Amino acid sequence: MARLRTTIPPSGHTVLVVDDDDDLRATLCRLLEVDGHEVLSAASGGQALELCRGRDIHIMLLDYFMPGMTGEEVVKHVRTFDSKVQIVLQTGYASEKLPRQMLRDLDIQGYHDKSEGPDKLLVWVDAALKTYKHVRALHASRSGLEYILKATPELHRLQPLDDLLLGILLQIQGLLGFTSAMLATLTPEGAVPTLSGALFTPELQELTLRIGTGRFGHTDWTVLTPEEQTLIRAALDSGQAHLGSQVILPLKAGERTLGVVMVDNPVQGSGDLHLLEIFAAQAAVAIENARLYSLATVDDLTGLVNKRAWLVRLEETIQLAARHEFSTSVLLLDLDHFKSVNDTYGHLAGDYVLAALGSCIQQQLRRSDVAGRYGGEELAVLLPHTSEAGALIIAERLRAAIEDLPLRWNGQSISVTVSIGTASLPHLVVLTPEDLVVDIFARADQSLYRAKRQGRNRVIQYATSTLEGSVQVSHPPI
Ligand code: GH3
Ligand code: MG
Ligand code: MG
Repeated sequence: MARLRTTIPPSGHTVLVVDDDDDLRATLCRLLEVDGHEVLSAASGGQALELCRGRDIHIMLLDYFMPGMTGEEVVKHVRTFDSKVQIVLQTGYASEKLPRQMLRDLDIQGYHDKSEGPDKLLVWVDAALKTYKHVRALHASRSGLEYILKATPELHRLQPLDDLLLGILLQIQGLLGFTSAMLATLTPEGAVPTLSGALFTPELQELTLRIGTGRFGHTDWTVLTPEEQTLIRAALDSGQAHLGSQVILPLKAGERTLGVVMVDNPVQGSGDLHLLEIFAAQAAVAIENARLYSLATVDDLTGLVNKRAWLVRLEETIQLAARHEFSTSVLLLDLDHFKSVNDTYGHLAGDYVLAALGSCIQQQLRRSDVAGRYGGEELAVLLPHTSEAGALIIAERLRAAIEDLPLRWNGQSISVTVSIGTASLPHLVVLTPEDLVVDIFARADQSLYRAKRQGRNRVIQYATSTLEGSVQVSHPPI
């Protein structure tokens, strides 16, 4: 075993020459050094394996017939710990197996007959190097993906979970080359299914398709064969994976099965299955985390975030806004004469109105805006990156949308209106972020109070353009 030096500009690649013929080995090494490769050499299969374990070898030129261990045996050993190295098998005689059969049966990337001369061998080396680059890139993507997967359970706070999971599933699909995949979850008992996707077959009605690629891309359950439905049901009931012409992995949170991941024309090797298993495990944790997070932060009745979560978002946004000097606005909404809605139509009708209001407001806002239920019939909206002028437009749009809401309860139509107070950053006074939070809220509250006093169903803005904080009315009293 010798390490040879070269003065040629380095190619950045390490090639291992394995041959029991000393002369041939030395010739091959010199030939490869001319191309700038770092060349290692081994006289036996045992030495080759030792080098492979200790070094990052890119290409291996491997003699087939060697005393002790044959090239075929070396390939099988190497593949137990290194899937990246590109192997070109060499033989001096007609081997027992045909070259094509060798390529098919063994995890090798080339087959060279020594009688064809060194030029042909160098062609194999160049081809193997090209493949090696792709393999290395794939490994890097795979490692990157595994890294992202590990962070998935926390990422649902930054991005809607289904978008996130779909993005990751598409990445895995690109890497592993399968054609279709889907993730479906069992709707928790008593929960209203609000997620996209149809329900399927009477016996699996509670399973909801969350994300799909390929044949599931249009969230269409009808493509599932009865056999597939039976397999999915079995995976759900047993909590066990099914590995066949489809791979079905249960999504498990502790003992509970939350749903399944199913992949068509699936995995080639154990590494592929491993990646899918990580996906299923991390997706399950992320789904459970998102559910718990939502239980703790979302108001049941309106579907808006609760007061505590809204205040946290307000503080976070104001801190960023103060540091990066972007404008931010707050709207406070209070239903007008809501007591009389309860008194006239009943408390349940009041609840129905609040729920309708929640969805109406969500529909009017951008994803980055945060609408919260601040109190009984008091709502708050945080508008990051929104100026005073923008806030006035959005507030007026909300006011008008609520006034026009077609609300019906027990055959009767109900009309409601809101008063809205707005305030924006930057303000003229220089304050700490903590004080800015208090300040912006207090100014929005003052504006709301003025809106009520001036007759309700209107927007009052706490204008920051004057020192006194004069008011601006977007909707003059009728
Ligand atoms: P205004 O704001 O225009 O001054 O009049 P208002 O009638 O809305 O006044 P107030 O804020 O005093 O009353 C709020 C009412 O909202 C009283 C309460 O019964 C009702 N409310 C608060 N939370 C809920 C709820 O969760 N469901 C129902 N149905 N009503 C609620
Ligand atoms: Mg009110
Ligand atoms: Mg009130």
